[in-house]
Amino acid sequence: MKYGIIGAMDLETKLLIEEMQNVTEFQIAGMHFYEGRLSNAEAVVVTSGVGKVNAAACAQILVTKFNVQALINTGVSGALHHDLEVGDIVISTDCMEHDVDVTVFGYKYGIIPRLESSVFIADNELVEKAYAAGVLEITDHKVLKGRIVSGDQFVSSIEKKSFLVENFEAFTTEMEGAAIAHVATINQIPFVIIRAMSDKADGSAHVSFDEFAVESAHHSSKMVINMLK
Ligand code: SAH
Repeated sequence: MKYGIIGAMDLETKLLIEEMQNVTEFQIAGMHFYEGRLSNAEAVVVTSGVGKVNAAACAQILVTKFNVQALINTGVSGALHHDLEVGDIVISTDCMEHDVDVTVFGYKYGIIPRLESSVFIADNELVEKAYAAGVLEITDHKVLKGRIVSGDQFVSSIEKKSFLVENFEAFTTEMEGAAIAHVATINQIPFVIIRAMSDKADGSAHVSFDEFAVESAHHSSKMVINMLK
């Protein structure tokens, strides 16, 4: 199995790239792809940049140019579920794009017209492997499985947070996961999204983000390293 591993920001991929062996570097679409071995698995690690378009372009390059057979996304995220605290982990059961709004035609929020399904289901085996790695690695924080929603917005208000919980029953929100899930699904390859909470997606989210992003991102990376073992 060859894995494509995406982080949006350098702080989310740094640890993984440092851990790799036999690395060859490629540059495509302004992104640096590191191909080699990670924890004894074949892997390509890349920093996509922030947001759904960057993530989708990156994921498709991994599939088309590098022939990866599975996509893993690691990084930080805003907590929505009431049980979640900063530092806790969410592993995707499924993903949706929360900023899709075609409601004027009678669709629910997040539904993309003419697509077979707008709910992208994560691969059960990868979810369970990630969960097992999480339980081993993350001893002082919770590891939950649940829905991850993505949009091109940094969520930092109670109103938006409530909207996402009420309309999507989402556990956490970020800006790339569902785009990667979408690309994996249309290419018929398995995926899993692993996110460590950097903030609670409320009024203090930007302050909390700056304080906790690096540490949380490292937790998520360590889970990826462990699950590939
Ligand atoms: N301070 C950063 C901005 C990062 S944007 C900078 O200036 O570069 C936030 C990133 O973290 C995105 O990649 C997103 O996936 C994730 N994220 C963390 N918390 C989030 C939240 N509350 N809402 C949306 N995305 C969040």
